[in-house]
Amino acid sequence: MTAPTTVVSSVADARIVGPIILLGAPGAGKGTQAKLIACTYGIPQISTGDLLRDNVARGTELGVAAKALMNKGELVPDQMVQDMVIGRLHEPDCSRGFILDGFPRTVPQAEWLDKFLEKEREGKDAAGKAAYAAPVVIQLQVDYNLILQRIAGRRSCPTCGRIYNVYLQPPKVEGKCDVDGATLVGRPDDREDVVKERLKAYEQQTLPLVDYYSSRGRLIAVDGDLPVEEVMRQAFSAIEHVNRL
Ligand code: AMP
Repeated sequence: MTAPTTVVSSVADARIVGPIILLGAPGAGKGTQAKLIACTYGIPQISTGDLLRDNVARGTELGVAAKALMNKGELVPDQMVQDMVIGRLHEPDCSRGFILDGFPRTVPQAEWLDKFLEKEREGKDAAGKAAYAAPVVIQLQVDYNLILQRIAGRRSCPTCGRIYNVYLQPPKVEGKCDVDGATLVGRPDDREDVVKERLKAYEQQTLPLVDYYSSRGRLIAVDGDLPVEEVMRQAFSAIEHVNRL
């Protein structure tokens, strides 16, 4: 799928978008939507799951500590993830905004992020302040029964990161990436027993963020069971609405 240029044709290349958070259960489509938003606005997608998997693959100290927890479907401790995120948010490509996919995942992470953004706003000009404004939070709401099918069918390209679903969004040639022909792969934590643990972690530790952000007037709920294009249209109109305020 290409970026939805018709939906946001007015977006100026250098416009400041500010922070966007995608909130939703595993398999809700956060990665797919984050990539589309990132591509359209020219801001980076910061997926803590991808950053952690990269650390696991490189065998870093963080990766070694995170691997066992990830394979069990449990969350990595807040401090470890925050230390990783802070390094990424200080990279220059985040200066017009960024999309957080999979972060925050606990209330303490959300509180930490609010403090971080507030600190970054200090002493900045209007443009700098806008780049680190309070985030727009888009919650992708999905039917629990659909999640297992979405996750069981999920495959991604190890080269370009494009995401497919063998049932819902299959590649043109079975098992191969449409973009570069690489062999698609599944994730070790997409096994059904691990997915159940991940859903438990989501319900217990991440769902409280819905109250956290809605009580602050920042949450926009989108029906994630709709087709990808419709979810995308609603997500874009939410971002455009907030950026006009
Ligand atoms: P994801 O790709 O977002 O589904 O994340 C995969 C796994 O990485 C999760 O099941 C957690 O073990 C870990 N993880 C990702 N993001 C976070 C986070 N913000 N806090 C704690 N653990 C995380």
